Amino acid sequence: MMNPASWNSCRSSLKRSDGKQMRRIYRTNLDFSTRCDLAARRRKATNKETARTEWNSYRRSVKSRPVLEALKEMNGQRQRCVYCCDSRSADVDHFTPISVDYSQAFAWNNFILVCPECNRKKGARFPRDKDGKPLIINPTREDPWDFLILDTKTGYLAARFLDEDFDPKGESTVEVISFINHEAVVEGRRRVIARYNEAVDYLLSSVEPKKSTGKLLREIREDEHGIGEWFARREGSLEPRFSELRARFPSIWRRFVREACSA
Ligand SMILES: [Zn+2]
Repeated sequence: MMNPASWNSCRSSLKRSDGKQMRRIYRTNLDFSTRCDLAARRRKATNKETARTEWNSYRRSVKSRPVLEALKEMNGQRQRCVYCCDSRSADVDHFTPISVDYSQAFAWNNFILVCPECNRKKGARFPRDKDGKPLIINPTREDPWDFLILDTKTGYLAARFLDEDFDPKGESTVEVISFINHEAVVEGRRRVIARYNEAVDYLLSSVEPKKSTGKLLREIREDEHGIGEWFARREGSLEPRFSELRARFPSIWRRFVREACSA
């Protein structure tokens, strides 16, 4: 059995550059004048009402554009929703809603790029544990695969099972942001999974496997659902065809893992 620590080995050191399915996203820095503007607005937002008024005015102004652009840049070329990976009209959202903590209304670390559907599902819902910590995955702070599993037969995401029960954060994320398992989103995942399987089968049956890696590497580049990581460093790596790839062609496997984890 592969050591779980090795599945995570490439997570912290590599940055992603393209838009992917729900995945760990690395926050960039804002420019100085945008940071000053946010700080000034934060001082004006002294309660829920003033924070909401100030936010509504800000989000329609040109002053908010650098924030939106920075979030889009973080999320990659396709500027996808951090939850469902839909690329349509993703907009700035508060991870911690204003109704829960108005002091976070203008905090850069609290901004995420979210599509209208996931925004609507999430709304003001913000479940927390007994210590007050969020029970919704924040992909800009944590790796979603730590809380979720991918069923590669169906394409559905589900909460990971821990020692005695399902991961509470994974469970409430799937429940609250239910659009991540919307039929169209799941279908998109199934297509990517099928293409990975075909690419590996093609390689395993090839008489010149080293010359047949292009199809698999192309899947990583075109993978808009971040599923390569599941097969490279999570439980997906133990599926029979991926196990066979690792056992028969260690050097190709190593390249696959490195590219899938840095794509
Ligand atoms: Zn979404």
